[in-house]
This record gives sequence, structure tokens and C-alpha cells, in this order.
Amino acid sequence: MARLISLIENASPLLRDVMAQLAPLTGRARLIGLTGAPGVGKSTLTSALLAVYRKAGDRVGVLAVDPSSPFSGGALLGDRVRMQEHATDPEVFIRSMANRGRLGGLSWATSQALRVLDVAGCDVIMIETVGVGQAEVEIASTADTTVVLVAPGMGDGVQTAKAGVLEIGDIYVVNKADRDEAQATARELNQMLALGQRRQPGDWRPPIIKTVASRGDGVPELVDALAKHGNWLADTGTLARRRRARARDEVAGIALAGLRERMGDLPGETQLDALADRVAAGELDPYTAADQLSAGLTQT
Ligand code: GDP
Repeated sequence: MARLISLIENASPLLRDVMAQLAPLTGRARLIGLTGAPGVGKSTLTSALLAVYRKAGDRVGVLAVDPSSPFSGGALLGDRVRMQEHATDPEVFIRSMANRGRLGGLSWATSQALRVLDVAGCDVIMIETVGVGQAEVEIASTADTTVVLVAPGMGDGVQTAKAGVLEIGDIYVVNKADRDEAQATARELNQMLALGQRRQPGDWRPPIIKTVASRGDGVPELVDALAKHGNWLADTGTLARRRRARARDEVAGIALAGLRERMGDLPGETQLDALADRVAAGELDPYTAADQLSAGLTQT
């Protein structure tokens, strides 16, 4: 499995064949995304959830994704000290993945790594995204259920979460509930959620759960909410819809990345460069140039 994930990180040409063989074996795992600002307690909470799922006999995968870091491999995983206690468990797979500029970037790599973990027989896969921003929102959309974490006393706790993250949560967690300001943070979050959302009957209402991840407080409630959301996804057909939307992004992403590569996004003397020179010189109009480029792409 480690070798397969290395192939993904290196955008290996072998992946095409590997993924063709893996495809019929995928679709079993339950994908849970955890997201929130650094230091909010994602790693601690992931570890607590891991313990619960392991106790229930599930095989568990953890994929830690860092959209901001250009490096992959050990560094991020090394920081995941709280996961160490699970590192020797043969039913637990923990992998980290960092930004890749190649072939559709991080969300592409994340989707492929999830396929590998899925095929490895994981019942539950937790995708832990580090940092806040558009990349995080994108990665979160690869999960069936997205848990958004905030914590009191981080100055910009809920504020940070505002930037797009408040739309993606299926479940909200106020971690570090042992802190005095936790109640105020939960209230603020509740108000912000109420403002932004108009729900129809039957819609999922994202709960707000208070946890002290370091002590395990609130974790059973979170596990319960995750199970409820899982049932809701299945019962309403939302799971199938989400997975279809995800597959759509995956296919389009790979196709577009391939086209972009052939179009000459990469430096060097290419057809695109030659056309660009002529357009810049006024010898050719951009529409004709685009037609020529497209014709060139579909011929090969
Ligand atoms: P991450 O960066 O979001 O993965 O956050 P971590 O899980 O690494 O936690 C950051 C720090 O917060 C660590 O020192 C944890 O021990 C601490 N921490 C995590 N959960 C809690 C909690 O519920 N209460 C308190 N007081 N500290 C916590």
C-alpha cells in the first residue's frame, strides 16, 4: 500500500493500470473528513475516534493532508505524535500527503489515495486536512461526512471558520470544551449557522458537539452523530449523489489536467507557445488559434 501511495505522490504512469484494477474493489469505506485551523485539535480527535472504531472492530485508515506544504512524507506524519499509539496496530493505516503541483494537484492525489485505503479494506477512513482555505474546502468535499472543528481561545476560531468552511460542515465540533470560553464559542457558531442556512423539511441539521478530545469527553456523542449522518446519507440517497458528484470532479480533473499538459502548460517549445507568438504579433486571432490548438489535441 505504501508503494501504491508513492506512485500517486509521483504521479506515476503506472497508476492508470493500477486504478483500472482497483476500481471494482472500491466504494466500501465510510469517508469522514475532519477540518479546521491548526492547533484546534484535529489530530487528537482523530486519534480518539480511531480508538472507538478500532474497539468496534473496524479497520481504520487516516489520511493527513496538508494543502500548504510542498513536501510529502514523514515530516507531517512525524508531528502526529498522538497517533503513535496506533502506529503498530496492523488494522490501522496512517498516511500523510502533501501538495503536488502535478496532474490536478492535491485533491486528485487525495482521491486516489482514498481509493487505495478503501481497497485495503478500511471500514472507516478519516481525512484530516491541515490549514484553512479553499484547498481545505476542496479536500473536505472528498468525504461523505465533513466534521468542522473550532476551538475557543484561538482568537479567530469561529472567524477563521467563516471563510467558506461554515458551508461545508455536516457536523460541527467545539473542541477544547474544557476552556471557559467554549460556551460562548458554541453560541457564536450556532448564531452563524442559523444565519446562513435555510432548510427544507427532511434536510440534515448540522449538530454542534462540544468535545474535550484530549480526555475523550464528547467523543461518544460525536460517534453517534457520525452514525446518524451516515444513516441519513444512505436513506435519502444523498450518499449516492455525493459520490457521483465526487466521481464527476475526479474524472473532469484528470481529463483537464491531461489536456492542460498536452496544451503546453509546461514550459518548453510547444504548439501553444507557437500559437501565442502569432497571436501576440497580430498574425492570428485568438479564436482561430484556439481552434487550431483543439484540433491538434483531438488528433493525437
Ligand atoms: P491539530 O493541529 O488541529 O491537529 O491539533 P492537535 O490535535 O495537534 O492539538 C493541538 C494542541 O491542543 C495539543 O497540545 C493538544 O494536546 C491540545 N488539545 C487537543 N484537544 C484538546 C482539548 O480538548 N482541550 C485542551 N485543553 N487541549 C486540547
